[in-house]
Amino acid sequence: MLQSKSFVRKTKQGKVVKVVREHYLRDDIYCGASSCKVCDSSGARLTSSASTILIVDTNVVLNQIDLLENQAIDDVVILSVVLEEVKNKNLAVYNRLRALCSNSMRKFFVFSNEYHRDTYVKAMVGESPNDRNDRAIRVAAQWYQNHLGNATRVLLITNDRENKRKATEEGISAETVESYVKSLGQPGLLDLLVQTSSQDVGMEEVEDLRPSKRKIIYTEHKPMSEITAGLHRGIYHQGKLRVNRYNPFEAYVGSESIGDEIIIYGRPNMNRAFDGDIVAVELLPQDQWHEEKSLSIVDEEDDEEENVHLVPNSADDAPRVMNQLQGSVGDANAVLSRPSGCVVGVIKRNWHSYCGSLEPMPMPAGSGGVAHALFVSKDRRIPKIRIQTRQLGNLLDKRIVVAVDSWDCLSRYPSGHYVRTIGEIGDRDTESEVVLIENDIDARPFASQILACLPPLPWSVSSEDLANPIRQDLRHVRVCSVDPPGCKDIDDALHCTALPDGNFEVGVRIL
Ligand SMILES: [Zn+2]
Repeated sequence: MLQSKSFVRKTKQGKVVKVVREHYLRDDIYCGASSCKVCDSSGARLTSSASTILIVDTNVVLNQIDLLENQAIDDVVILSVVLEEVKNKNLAVYNRLRALCSNSMRKFFVFSNEYHRDTYVKAMVGESPNDRNDRAIRVAAQWYQNHLGNATRVLLITNDRENKRKATEEGISAETVESYVKSLGQPGLLDLLVQTSSQDVGMEEVEDLRPSKRKIIYTEHKPMSEITAGLHRGIYHQGKLRVNRYNPFEAYVGSESIGDEIIIYGRPNMNRAFDGDIVAVELLPQDQWHEEKSLSIVDEEDDEEENVHLVPNSADDAPRVMNQLQGSVGDANAVLSRPSGCVVGVIKRNWHSYCGSLEPMPMPAGSGGVAHALFVSKDRRIPKIRIQTRQLGNLLDKRIVVAVDSWDCLSRYPSGHYVRTIGEIGDRDTESEVVLIENDIDARPFASQILACLPPLPWSVSSEDLANPIRQDLRHVRVCSVDPPGCKDIDDALHCTALPDGNFEVGVRIL
């Protein structure tokens, strides 16, 4: 069967050409369930015993990829319409999803709903692409349910209230991520859910844990249209925010437009930007520019939100910049002061996951419920991150990985969620893994193709090599490479050995 659509298009040269898009629909695309009597099950990925098969929508993939990566979630159908949308919206999540789908240990099956005769849907007149795609997801869910029969429950997972309502109306089982995860009876899994402020908190299944009394702590970010206009007019400056490793309350933005670094002092001026974010900065009036030496730092008072249970005196040790010299700075000093600014918007986030541990806190009374805790990253440039956990007792003495989800202007700290536990604090293997993760070092074993390039084992230095007069055996010295990170050609190395007379022997090796 062939769906074709033709339209005329004007080329750059002004010619009008007719374009025909042909969309071939097939009836030999399999469902991926090994229990299926109809389909060829040689490529099936879903377990034969699965009583529930999950179909997830695009936002569930985009927001809850940490959850999907957990072993507890399996027998998932990824529709091609979802895969395509994820690819367009977030390449990093797309790559993680592809890795899940190709991992033979996991039961994720890609179903080409867009090419299947029974599940392809044409956009209706006046239907938005989003609505069309949501409908395609529901049609595919319906097809699966009819195809697999009543022995299998096909469950659509969506947090989109409208999509869920329509699905239920059409007789499709649909649940929110939260209610599905709760039904699994593994409270720890709920920790993996993303805490977004924009989530449909009106839905009855979602607990609204936001405190009622909250005050604005940060200035709202400008809308993107205003930022673009401001950059164009030269009142805002764009650059990558770099947080000072030695003082996380000070950051720099290298600005091409003013040809200098703009200094951002204090968390209020950093306005929720993270290290590595691409930000838009507005310069402060010149009388508020600082000289580094004129700064003094005091501890911020403890005005922590009530729902974060902190041990006394452990509030964020954010120093407050005391602008004591403001107004008394002489003209000569003012010339020396450096451009200072504040962040008015974040153009591109550099959020990823971070290693660290929870701030020590007493176990809240009536343990077993949801606790709010503050996560402290090993990377000092990262602010504390607030997470919800149902396994506080298990996490307090562990190194854990946490991902950031959102940071609204009412909240002192960003919100995030628990991703996984690395191990116990202080354990050598755990701390080694933390260092590897923090520095983005891939510690996975080498692939067999790479190992195949090596000579067969057991291998040893041959007597010819040792006899070769232009070679020297240095295996007894500890030689360190000094090539920069990411270097592919590791050929500059040093060694340093303490000699018996107290001197040091330094070897410089350039290959
Ligand atoms: Zn089938």
